[in-house]
Amino acid sequence: RKSFRDFDYIVKVVLIGDAAVGKSSLLSKYVDEEFETAYNCTIGVDFKIKSLIIDNKKVKLQVWDTAGQERFKPITNCYFRSSNGCVAVYDICNRESFDNVKIWINDYRENNSIESIENVLLVGNKIDKAEGREVSYDEGKKYAESSKCEFLEASAKSGEGVNELFEAVSKMIIVKMSLAE
Ligand code: GDP
Repeated sequence: RKSFRDFDYIVKVVLIGDAAVGKSSLLSKYVDEEFETAYNCTIGVDFKIKSLIIDNKKVKLQVWDTAGQERFKPITNCYFRSSNGCVAVYDICNRESFDNVKIWINDYRENNSIESIENVLLVGNKIDKAEGREVSYDEGKKYAESSKCEFLEASAKSGEGVNELFEAVSKMIIVKMSLAE
């Protein structure tokens, strides 16, 4: 396709989930040096931008992190609304964070557009800490299937699954964008 644009798709993703599950760590691990950091003062949320190629398409991925603002729901709802999808994170060593991620996902879906609510990727983080595991892979997978999310496990510490998760959510979104074109 002939285009003057620098990118074929601009994709905006939000990271949701309890404090301390590893949202910022996953983003930093993925980022390396390539990311630009910006700050939106209006809503008090950090976001990072990365360019990637998916299926030969140039994708500009913007990732918004709640960055410790988990308690300020009115603020987060404001940036939920303009996103194309979300990565919902829990800590596999913390059952409470798994119970809460379900609430986060429902909340996201209640506050977002029809197109975006399907684009939810559930991520169980901290798989490097196998000895402390409280939520099994199967349990995560089963919940994801029942609530129509994609599912992955990852570790921000070892890096396992990190590239895959950001690519998976971007792909999920652009597939639907290209169908809508
Ligand atoms: P956030 O509040 O969800 O953004 O969580 P942070 O990224 O600040 O991480 C909270 C804590 O968990 C920090 O001490 C991190 O170093 C640690 N952490 C994050 N991801 C992992 C991981 O994959 N494995 C382990 N072992 N620790 C992690």
